[in-house]
Amino acid sequence: MKNFTYVRAGSAQEARTASALAGSMILAGGTTLLDLAKCGVTEPDTVVDITHLAGLDRIEVDGTGASIGSLARMSAVADHPAMQDAFPAVTQSLALAASAQIRNMATIGGNLLQRTRCPYFRDAAVFPACNKRSPGSGCSALGGVTRNHAVLGTSDACIATYPGDLAVALVALDAVVHLGSRAIPVDDFFLLPGNHPDREHAMERGEIITSVTIPLSAAARRSVYLKIRDRQSYEFAAASAAVGLELEEDGRTVRDVRIALGGVATKPWRARAVEAALIGKVLEPQLVRQASLLSMQGAADHGANHYKIDLAPRVITRAVLQLGGLA
Ligand code: FAD
Ligand code: SF4
Repeated sequence: MKNFTYVRAGSAQEARTASALAGSMILAGGTTLLDLAKCGVTEPDTVVDITHLAGLDRIEVDGTGASIGSLARMSAVADHPAMQDAFPAVTQSLALAASAQIRNMATIGGNLLQRTRCPYFRDAAVFPACNKRSPGSGCSALGGVTRNHAVLGTSDACIATYPGDLAVALVALDAVVHLGSRAIPVDDFFLLPGNHPDREHAMERGEIITSVTIPLSAAARRSVYLKIRDRQSYEFAAASAAVGLELEEDGRTVRDVRIALGGVATKPWRARAVEAALIGKVLEPQLVRQASLLSMQGAADHGANHYKIDLAPRVITRAVLQLGGLA
């Protein structure tokens, strides 16, 4: 691991100033940053420690929604009773992520900014070609082992999956990322790879995430995060769905539904076509099965990841039917 200078920021503004310099990186829980530094994928000259900044770990929930500081630990949010009550998809997405030890260490801001688990991205010594790590060098995954790669939002330059769980729930529930002087809806925060897969989010150098807000809604209260993976613990999603549902007074007609997919796309993926096909309709299994297929419009597989095109609509179907009491 390359040596770096350690800076302990005294305030959020100090952190912004220090991280604006080329070669600087923010340190929160360190579970991604140090991991990638050890395998040579990131080589910071300066690490700017923000872990002790006061007030950035608060979790506030009221009648309008939640405000979660960027330094709140994953476990603190997952175990927060008011969060569990108002935003079950969010707390479930966190509880199903990583391991207990990592959840106790890792923060909400760091979780959103975690990097892809594409094995070619993480092994620079054996696979020098990776447009995300080294722009213009090519993509080792194309023609390689693609079982965990994306089927939605890919480009000729990169087919890596966004690996996080929390962001999927946040996209479904219209959350907003706050950077201090500006705020960005989570759905716009993450970028498609296009020709620049090295650029993953809309944050500029010198900006830091200060908090995430989530508006309260009936769909948020009745929400779920369903994660399908190769083993039941300590594993990233093969496919996941965050779904929020509000029914009319008849208890059967869909008034509002929010759906996002994880594990299958290059960014957390809002399934708006499925939502549009369900709103105003009476919930019944065949309708939900048909509507869920719309989530794969534009999907393209690379051989070994074809199963995701079949799996993801089934995950949506199960989540919607479960919320509607029809599973
Ligand atoms: P750090 O490592 O400190 O930072 C991560 C990145 O974000 C760095 O680039 C850092 O500079 C930047 N950063 C951090 N905070 C800020 C801020 N406030 N403003 C600006 N930049 C910032 N995640 C899942 O969602 N699901 C899983 O199933 C899962 N499984 C895992 C399994 C393993 C073995 C490991 C190691 C990780 C797994 N993760 C999983 C990822 C884990 O959740 C992340 O590593 C963690 O959330 C990162 O948070 P952190 O605070 O440690 O971030
Ligand atoms: Fe790199 Fe993306 Fe190709 Fe993986 S899929 S090797 S991250 S360019």
